[in-house]
Amino acid sequence: MAVPKSKITRSRTGMRRSHDALVAANPNECSNCGELKRPHHVCPSCGTYSGREVVAVADEIDLDDDAA
Ligand SMILES: [Zn+2]
Repeated sequence: MAVPKSKITRSRTGMRRSHDALVAANPNECSNCGELKRPHHVCPSCGTYSGREVVAVADEIDLDDDAA
């Protein structure tokens, strides 16, 4: 609901924004390669999840390739 800006005190604004802070990420160590990864996500460095490889990780991507 729209409220006139003049009615909203700095205190109200501060109370609303008290919940706006970003929280730090909570990374876990990958059980396969030991790299830090997001919990419940596939490891971006080795492509495994719960001990098995689910995503093939490319060794090298050649950006200078002329084939288009
Ligand atoms: Zn990993």
